[in-house]
Amino acid sequence: MTTHQAEWQDTLVHLFALAARLEGEGQYNLAKLTRAAADSSCRRETYPLDIHGDTDKLTVEVRKAIDALSRLNMSADLLSALKQGAEFMAQGKLSPITVTPHPYVCRACGYIALAPPTEPCPTCGAWAETFQKFMPNYWFDALEPEAARERLRQTPLVVEKLIAGLSDDVMNQPASDGGWAIRNTLSHLRDAQGVLDFRVDLFLKEAHPILESKAVFAWAKNESKRPPSARDIFETYRASRAETLRKLESFASSDWQRTGEHEEFGTVTLRQQVSYFAAHEPTHLSQIRALTR
Ligand SMILES: [Zn+2]
Repeated sequence: MTTHQAEWQDTLVHLFALAARLEGEGQYNLAKLTRAAADSSCRRETYPLDIHGDTDKLTVEVRKAIDALSRLNMSADLLSALKQGAEFMAQGKLSPITVTPHPYVCRACGYIALAPPTEPCPTCGAWAETFQKFMPNYWFDALEPEAARERLRQTPLVVEKLIAGLSDDVMNQPASDGGWAIRNTLSHLRDAQGVLDFRVDLFLKEAHPILESKAVFAWAKNESKRPPSARDIFETYRASRAETLRKLESFASSDWQRTGEHEEFGTVTLRQQVSYFAAHEPTHLSQIRALTR
């Protein structure tokens, strides 16, 4: 291990220990800075380590992580969920909520549970309601209804500006690393918008509908039934978005609390689904901008 790595690891462990102690003293502002520093430090170290490749490569990497975690006595339930989830990925599928539930971690001692805790922590006695729940991403609760609608209105305008004046040749050119062309990103936005629109209808038509898992990401390079030009793909995205916004405008506040059962994420509200789709889109805008320079 290099000196840098050893120093980084020591600092990281110290930052987490310090944050917990600061929280114990009620020094929440100092604690938030140390937690943010720990998170930033991890991301800075890992940003250059691009684990590149297909699902076969990722499956190998998950198995490597399982081996390392089992040597560190990680919970058998978590390891088993990781193993089963990796098997779904190896078959080209998304891991369902039944196999990979949301984990809950005891904020005091680190005990981990794969179901909402109902009893105090078996290790340290911390109250069940104090555990930290880990969601699959931050999009579910990122935006309240009004902010989510505004984001859904704004993002197509941002995309329109990003692609203004670009020829189809430029938009069909794959990224230099073989990644998505602008055309593929536009297809992905359009596909995700289609799923959102479909689900908005479903939430209104049915009580607690089943929301099928959709591997929207994998469709971006599928060219069957695509409009011929990238600009036409953008126009279908924009038109469908306008339609969804019209539907969302007519909702009563109670409609936003309607629930559905998502195969991948468990019980979700309409509010969470709209937040999810609105917050997801901007994560793709840097991909477009990188190809316009
Ligand atoms: Zn505990």
